[in-house]
Amino acid sequence: MMLYLLERDRPGAQVLADALQNALSKVGRCSACRTLAEQALCPICADEQRDPHILCVVETPADVLALEQTGAFKGKYFVLMGHLSPIDGIGPEHIGLDVLAKRFRDEPITEVVLATSTTVEGEATAFFIAREARSAGVAVSRIAQGIPLGGELEYTDANTLALALSGRTVVKES
Ligand SMILES: [Zn+2]
Repeated sequence: MMLYLLERDRPGAQVLADALQNALSKVGRCSACRTLAEQALCPICADEQRDPHILCVVETPADVLALEQTGAFKGKYFVLMGHLSPIDGIGPEHIGLDVLAKRFRDEPITEVVLATSTTVEGEATAFFIAREARSAGVAVSRIAQGIPLGGELEYTDANTLALALSGRTVVKES
């Protein structure tokens, strides 16, 4: 992209550079959920229409955007900005788990939805958070895993297929 802009669109490059400069000086972290935000509280945390009883834990701000696009979640979020990774020296305090534990205790949260990735680190992080949540009396759920919409069983890997089977749901009469 840099080569393209330098060769063909220097004014466009300046617009991009200014936008980045602007973002660097204005964008910080939301004090409640840790996502990237221009204000002390991000628009979702500040929105009183959102359900304060249900908190969805994700790894990145991009995960929040993806979930928001579904329009299916009306609670609030907590953004880890990573996952537990002892090999890289990333422990609970580096991903805000101390802040999260405090929120479990101080706020009227009744359910935490674990939406960390399905990698070994993501699962370990989910396991750690689940233990913290239960000790604070908060119910724990994990987003379901399975066959993508429009996907074919034949081409689905065995682990996903096994998870889809074990997480099967009752088909309601329509
Ligand atoms: Zn927030």
